[in-house]
Amino acid sequence: MYDVEKVRADFPILATEVYPGVPLIYLDSAASSQKPTTVIQAMDDYYQRYHANVHRGVHKLSEMATTAYEMARVKVAEFIHAPAPEQIIFVGNATEGFNLVAHSWGRANVGPGDEILLTEMEHHANIVPWQILAAERGATLRFLPFHEDGTLALERLGEFLTKRTKLFSFTAVSNVFGTINPVRELVDAAHAVGALAMVDAAQLTPHMPTDVQAIDCDFLAFSSHKMCGPTGIGVLYGKRELLEAMPPFLGGGDMIRRVTFEGFIPNELPWKFEAGTPRIAEAIGLGAAVDYLTGLEMEAVQAHEQSITAYALESLSEIPGLTLLGPRGVRHGGVASFTLQGIHPHDIAEILDKDGIAIRAGHHCAMPLHHKLGITASARASFYVHTLPAEIDKLVASLHRARDVFRLER
Ligand code: PMP
Repeated sequence: MYDVEKVRADFPILATEVYPGVPLIYLDSAASSQKPTTVIQAMDDYYQRYHANVHRGVHKLSEMATTAYEMARVKVAEFIHAPAPEQIIFVGNATEGFNLVAHSWGRANVGPGDEILLTEMEHHANIVPWQILAAERGATLRFLPFHEDGTLALERLGEFLTKRTKLFSFTAVSNVFGTINPVRELVDAAHAVGALAMVDAAQLTPHMPTDVQAIDCDFLAFSSHKMCGPTGIGVLYGKRELLEAMPPFLGGGDMIRRVTFEGFIPNELPWKFEAGTPRIAEAIGLGAAVDYLTGLEMEAVQAHEQSITAYALESLSEIPGLTLLGPRGVRHGGVASFTLQGIHPHDIAEILDKDGIAIRAGHHCAMPLHHKLGITASARASFYVHTLPAEIDKLVASLHRARDVFRLER
């Protein structure tokens, strides 16, 4: 049995008050999740007991730090079922993963007349790097549309995936709609026209089991800070032959095997893509986060989130004037985005904050998606391993209070 109360005790911040007498109700995990004690302690332990640079010194501390850093890579590889740890590149965040692929693979493989296919529900992290690449290389970006209910227009895939498509990069789970896209189907469709497939797993890996081999994607990126781990680190997974063929992204120490005044020979995977002193404490923290989630079991995490999300969508839909964005009656990522007639999302968030409830308001780094919906912003509550039904009830009560503040009719 999944014991939410026991899980909650693992997160020290959940016992805090936002204002005197007002306990925290954290409904913003899709933006960044809170951290369990084990993650905080793992990083603390590194700094207190064995901080040193990795891959360089021959002294004991450096050896300990290197082992812990590389162990974190092994843990991440196992967590997403990567064939080998060398295919796990530690980057700054999911955003950097996209930039790395756009910069390194993109500049070597994309030229005038080529197309990159995205979807209309992408986060800016999976739009802007391709816009920069397309502008530079004379390539064209195309966007697979979504239906009104926030599901992709899969029936139009054949129109958008063509012989000209070099890469199809799409999100596994929408951070606004909560749509869970049919990842394997999309990857297969890309491969069928000879294109590569990149998956934005920022809202997948923290919430559901991730299996890169079952998905068969060529690249996949996610961030540590949304999955109980620290900020400052993310992961790029890639198929080995692709990563091996790609030129380095950033140059400097660690990413080289040999340097002369004339040039350099790059290091092997994964270090070829990890220039300079890496994110040592962050990798160790991410490793602890992976241990933590593995201990909870991702299937159980997913089931808990499914039920809490269904409850939230049901409860929110009963509020007068509230419009939910995204699909209903299907499996849904752990987000509930909405607009409330007569109140701007920022005002909603401010009123909720006074009740200790943290939600996100704005465009959630998906401006084109909101533009297509004809709105500039929405409010988003998001759920995680520690969310309680009682917190959803408080969210609903607080939204009723917001309506009262704005004197909207009950
Ligand atoms: N993709 C999606 C779907 C996201 O939700 C986010 C974070 N909001 C990102 C990419 C980017 O993550 P980061 O800012 O950690 O790079």
